[in-house]
Amino acid sequence: MDTILVLLHTEPDALLSTSACEAVGAASRLGGELGVQGFSIGIIGASTQQALDGVASCGATRFLAAEHAELAQSRYATDAAAAEAVCRASGATLIVAPMTSRWARTLPGVAHRLGGRVDTHVTGLGATSGAVSATRWFYRQRMEGSLTRTQRPWIILIDPGAVAAWTGAAGAATAERVPVDLDAALRRTIVTGIEAPAAEQQTIRPDADLLFVAGAGWTKKQADGQVHSADAETLILDFLRASRASLGSSKSLVDLSGEGQSVLQFLSHLNQVGQTGSTPRHPKGLATCCHGEEPHVVGWRFITERRAVNLDPNCGWARGKADVLYVADAFAIMKKVNELLADGR
Ligand SMILES: Cc1cc2nc3c(=O)[nH]c(=O)nc-3n(C[C@H](O)[C@H](O)[C@H](O)COP(=O)(O)OP(=O)(O)OC[C@H]3O[C@@H](n4cnc5c(N)ncnc54)[C@H](O)[C@@H]3O)c2cc1C
Repeated sequence: MDTILVLLHTEPDALLSTSACEAVGAASRLGGELGVQGFSIGIIGASTQQALDGVASCGATRFLAAEHAELAQSRYATDAAAAEAVCRASGATLIVAPMTSRWARTLPGVAHRLGGRVDTHVTGLGATSGAVSATRWFYRQRMEGSLTRTQRPWIILIDPGAVAAWTGAAGAATAERVPVDLDAALRRTIVTGIEAPAAEQQTIRPDADLLFVAGAGWTKKQADGQVHSADAETLILDFLRASRASLGSSKSLVDLSGEGQSVLQFLSHLNQVGQTGSTPRHPKGLATCCHGEEPHVVGWRFITERRAVNLDPNCGWARGKADVLYVADAFAIMKKVNELLADGR
């Protein structure tokens, strides 16, 4: 009979992320399907009590915590040592964790140390007749596969936004302290600082309700025969600031910088959606000045409600894949939308 551990880490505010609560929800449902009595929650961080109290009533029967001041900082060597110690202390055969960048970097190595296996980007978990299966997408999200494994421990990282999060009342969790020796790891890797864009310059927001996709049309000659890239930058950034939407881009638009053409300075290849980009999950999507198949078909694969603004009524992909196509000038539309947002409407 499998035993389940949900493996978490604290966020900088010492609480848990939404994706951590999703992992708790997935493990709790899996435990129900397997018919196992309860499950464990293991956590690493500088201070873990507040986070554990937040999930105290989730049905977990055991809480394990590895605490150390240096675990406030994500660092492979210390995270792996702490995660390994928690996994060993739990004795669990199934380890469910959120696919955060911190765990995605760390847990494959932990699986190796434990002599187990790991699967990343898992989008669903289930059990039939006691056999656990995980689903994930392959070939740039075009095929969904379901897999089982006999090796244990099996570490399973759940993609953010793929499963329902556990919600419930906070309580008081009593945690077993897991001793962890970080001295060797701390001698090896010293974090001297973090270089990251300022929060307001960060345009990729996985938790946003809306994915705003910008296409190359924003940098093309408009009706007056001129390009208006500076206006496009202002319109898009104003919209992102007011709506807190996440910014996606077509490949053509991010590739333009390499061709010496007019570009939107704040875009990088990390914004690219599609077959050779990302396939983010958001409840809504709005594509603007965008014609491509990949952004509309693959990039929007997990977007629930899709709308597009395009000057071309015959744009096959916008028309074929959007629920609503506005045949209009995106410059005019976004100017009006920004005015409405500034008015608080
Ligand atoms: C192997 C392979 C992989 C690829 N992978 C990807 C991928 O991952 N992601 C991706 O995006 N592409 C990918 N592509 C490229 C893709 O096929 C398209 O070429 C690309 O997406 C087109 O980008 P676009 O729609 O931004 O630009 P364009 O095709 O130039 O379209 C611009 C659109 O803007 C509209 N427009 C212009 N001005 C306005 C205005 N004022 N208001 C409203 N609309 C306006 C035009 O009508 C036009 O429809 C891939 C291609 C290949 C071959």
